[in-house]
Amino acid sequence: MKNLLLVFLVLSCSNAFSQDISFAKKVVDTLASPYFWGRGYTKGGMEKAAQYLVQQFSDYGLKPVKGSSFLQPFSYPVNTFPTEMEVSINGKQLTPGKDFIVSPDSRGVKAKGDLQQQDSTHFIDAQNRIMVSLEDKLTWSVASEAADYTALQVDKKAIDGMPADIKATIENKVIKDFKTANICGWVKGTSHPDSIIVISAHYDHLGGMGESTYFPGANDNASGTSVLLGLAKYYAANPQPFTIAFISFAGEEAGLIGSKYFTENPVFPLKNIRFLVNLDLQGTGGEGITVVNATEFKKEFEMLNEVNDSLKLLSKINARGKAANSDHYWFTEKGVPAFFFYTLGGIKAYHDVFDKAETLPLNEYEDLIKLVKGFNKKLMK
Ligand SMILES: [Zn+2]
Repeated sequence: MKNLLLVFLVLSCSNAFSQDISFAKKVVDTLASPYFWGRGYTKGGMEKAAQYLVQQFSDYGLKPVKGSSFLQPFSYPVNTFPTEMEVSINGKQLTPGKDFIVSPDSRGVKAKGDLQQQDSTHFIDAQNRIMVSLEDKLTWSVASEAADYTALQVDKKAIDGMPADIKATIENKVIKDFKTANICGWVKGTSHPDSIIVISAHYDHLGGMGESTYFPGANDNASGTSVLLGLAKYYAANPQPFTIAFISFAGEEAGLIGSKYFTENPVFPLKNIRFLVNLDLQGTGGEGITVVNATEFKKEFEMLNEVNDSLKLLSKINARGKAANSDHYWFTEKGVPAFFFYTLGGIKAYHDVFDKAETLPLNEYEDLIKLVKGFNKKLMK
């Protein structure tokens, strides 16, 4: 109840600012809070995040692209870990998320057994089909199905000596048809409504692993969502010559599923997109940003640098080529000109339980907003 009240308070204050860092912090704190449970597959996390975004879009005055709903529903299969998540090695109970993670394609298990060493970092309980690997860093992801084994990544520092025996109780549940939605809204252009600039950022993350552990995904991608919302609020109040569309994608962490679905079922013609800017991992920026597709769209990359130099925004903009590392990818494959920005510097947490709101400086938030606004202005000339 206390959590719910807190979320309600955070939600109701979140409209006070749009382009300053306090607005960004509120959005990131909200989306990374336990209520949203890592915006994934258990405790209704992704659906709650979708509801929150629909409310924001509608409060700002964005219009649904098609009909009266901001939602573009779709579904896909996913392996989830809703409840039990207990692992002991050498008699020591390990903390989920911090000491170990279960490989996302693992099956559930309830067993006790001996571990045989395979090499310096791999150990197997063949009878129970449990595999243990010792790692320096734990990195989680999402899988669409369960294999016929249980694989555990264990932090080297969490156990003394060699793993010799294991006790594990893990429950998994494959959802064949996990239902979610992209969220699409726009501000119609005043003179060229058929020319569209798209701002995108995925709102889903990895979700939870067991009853008491979730992956907050503050940098990935509550931060990009905060930039998208800041821009949405600005453009809703300041319509432009071109249409400015906003897409919050779902299913990104499960393999760019939402953006693939969108490009196969576009709610407006892809050929009308003048440019797409995808925002993912926007929480730092002390060492600048990298722009994926910079070498593909040289003219636009020059325009971006002109904006950055004239307004003295980010310390550095690195150029990178094509990469299938976020939602811009399917658009590029369909011939839509697009950039993907990610920030550099600061904390290194990635796909782990340490990607928390309080670790993010969001120090370049205002500059990122100015950069996108300035870039869009040039695109509309
Ligand atoms: Zn991401």
